[in-house]
Amino acid sequence: MDSLALLILLIAVVGIALVALVAGLVVSGRRKPAPLPETRVTHEAEDVLAPPDEQPASTDVGVDTSLEAPAAPVLEKPEGTASRLVRLRQRLAGSQGALGRGLLALLSRDKLDEDTWESIEDTLLTADIGVAPTQELVERLRTRLRVEGEGDARSILREELVALVGPDMDRRLQVTGTDGRPGVVLVVGVNGAGKTTTVGKVARILVAEDLRVVLGAADTFRAAAVDQLATWGERVGVEVVRGEEAADPASVAFRAVESGTTAGVDTVIVDTAGRLQNKQGLMDELGKVKRVIEKQAPVTEVLLVLDATTGQNGLIQARVFSEAVAVTGIVLTKLDGSAKGGIVVQVQRELGVPVKLVGLGEGPDDLAPFDAGAFVDALLG
Ligand code: GDP
Repeated sequence: MDSLALLILLIAVVGIALVALVAGLVVSGRRKPAPLPETRVTHEAEDVLAPPDEQPASTDVGVDTSLEAPAAPVLEKPEGTASRLVRLRQRLAGSQGALGRGLLALLSRDKLDEDTWESIEDTLLTADIGVAPTQELVERLRTRLRVEGEGDARSILREELVALVGPDMDRRLQVTGTDGRPGVVLVVGVNGAGKTTTVGKVARILVAEDLRVVLGAADTFRAAAVDQLATWGERVGVEVVRGEEAADPASVAFRAVESGTTAGVDTVIVDTAGRLQNKQGLMDELGKVKRVIEKQAPVTEVLLVLDATTGQNGLIQARVFSEAVAVTGIVLTKLDGSAKGGIVVQVQRELGVPVKLVGLGEGPDDLAPFDAGAFVDALLG
């Protein structure tokens, strides 16, 4: 009897356990298709661990934006004027110092004979100062050293070089307008001279000085130039007005000035096409851009960008541009890459316009205002 009761109890317990097991399987089977919160986490973990080329896009500063709404781009702060000038003067001394050192070595020889004067002339010509300015300089140096003695050759050379470069030329940039309208800077020059880069660098200088800027990408013949300018603008939070590829450059320039006027900015800088065509074609194109802009605001500055390494060829091109549009200032680029700083003298004489800025590298803040005294000091080391 007792063993029968025990058997019945055992069967009951096993039965209950079986029912519970089957019920549990059914419940868990039903749950399975429901999305588990872990699923999303697993995918994110995979993204983070994926090789770099499969990583989700993130901003320059390395913030993973996959978990949040896209953050506003982090703006760059352009380098301040003081540190930029110190840095770039050193760079200028590095690229042009050999000219000054060469001249000083020749002038400090015991005897300034004809051979020495010829070597001085050669040194000046090699630095692209030009034939007429070289002869003038040598003439003045000969006279002064004879009259004043050769003891102070260095300060005489400094004075004469500064006089040649033109210490009294007005080199200020006209970047602001009047009557509540923005200043308009038109940037012209042959392709490859550094025009688009210069527009970007000038924008950074103005932003560093707390001016508000709009850029016009009117070099519509080159999609790369438009994209390049857009990147320069984005980096410092400056609006870039652009048109369709091959759009009329004048219409882009017009819209840029319109946008700048509406926004009340200080300066609109317009990049232009640099195709070197015949003078008439260039005149027609740049003339139209200027006329269309001036329906809204006067052009306050026309900067001609010239590559310092191109010598006589560059000067010929510069002349064509200056005949096509009234240039008010020259930007001499790539002075870091050659010892041809003498071109400053020649181009100012040729065009009758001051060098206002010099490009001293490919870095975003490698553009400096030109100053005759500082330039000659960098030369003489
Ligand atoms: P654009 O065709 O006249 O618009 O010329 P870009 O602005 O595209 O410049 C042509 C090349 O010259 C680019 O590789 C620039 O980085 C370079 N460049 C521009 N200015 C300077 C400069 O002052 N120094 C050096 N070393 N390179 C420069």
